[in-house]
This record gives sequence, C-alpha cells and structure tokens, in this order.
Amino acid sequence: MKREALQVDPSSLGARRRVDISELKSKFREAEISHELALDYDGTHYSDDKSLFRNIITEYNLGSGAYGVYDPKHSMKVKEELASKLQYKEKDLEELGHNVFGVSFGINVNRILQEAKKLYSGDIWKFFAIIYIAETMIHEAAHATYGASEPEAEREAAAFRSWALEETRAKKILSALNIKDVDLIQDLEKGLN
Ligand SMILES: [Zn+2]
Repeated sequence: MKREALQVDPSSLGARRRVDISELKSKFREAEISHELALDYDGTHYSDDKSLFRNIITEYNLGSGAYGVYDPKHSMKVKEELASKLQYKEKDLEELGHNVFGVSFGINVNRILQEAKKLYSGDIWKFFAIIYIAETMIHEAAHATYGASEPEAEREAAAFRSWALEETRAKKILSALNIKDVDLIQDLEKGLN
C-alpha cells in the first residue's frame, strides 16, 4: 500500500497516535487509511486540547447493528480491562478520574463494506468504504470525546466528508488505492447516502 501518497504529516497527529485500531484493520486493511484521514482532518481542524480523538484509546470492531456506536458501558469495560492489565484497583480508577484511560467506540466494518459494495461496482467501492469508515470514526469520536448530540455528530461527519472529497485529496486516496483515471471524481460529492 502506497501510504505516503496520503501525505499525512505525522507531527500534526500528536497524541492522537495512541489509538488502537488493530481490530478494524484485521477486518479491512484499508481501515488504516480511514483512520489516518480522520486524524489528519482532526489535526488540521482542531488543536490538541480540542481534538476529537484526544480521549480515544480503542476503536473496536462491531459485529452487528449500527454503522458505529459509542456505548459508555462497553467503553468502561474496555477501560477496566486495561486497568486490570496495569493492576489498578477500581478505587484508584475513581481517584484518577474517568479520563485516565480514555474511551472507546465501535465501527461495524463489515456492514459498511457491504453497503459500499452494493452501491459501487468495480474498485471504487473501496474508496467509498474508506471514506465512510472514516466519517463514522469522526461521528463516534464526537459522541465519545465531548458528548456530541446526534445533530452535532452528524455535522462533524458531514464536514469531514466534504473535506475528504475535495478533489486533490480524493485523487490522492484513489492513487493510494491504485484506482486510475476514474470519471467518478465529479460524482464524489454524492458519497454514500
Ligand atoms: Zn450518532
């Protein structure tokens, strides 16, 4: 994978780098491109203290249901597992505060891949799957990080989509995927609906 084609500046990502997305990558290798896009967007639009990913530790794969979910209970479980690995006690956790280990959200990778394949033939489905996974990451990160309402999370995701589908950026992603000379650029704004 020609990842350098995305030209993400690692220094712009800061603390956002620590997010664990290994489960997502095991379902769809290109989820890494989605994540880099989401971080790149976040890094260019928000300072570190306002980052949508400032408090995210894990993005896990969701086996069924919605495209993505932020479930505070499950997120707490993930945190407790981490805490027990690190041998913290529950009391210490409380003292240390809710945010010590951060929060987690889920992405239903398979469902998004299926939707994209249904809507787009040829190789282009992969492009839209990457965009849509990234958009869902932004949406759930907004819920998880600052308790965004549904309209707020949707606004964040829509702003990300417009940014990601700007022609120059979209062409870079297409070339990273080795998808050449597609007329679809003019249709990109449509995205997945
Ligand atoms: Zn939502």
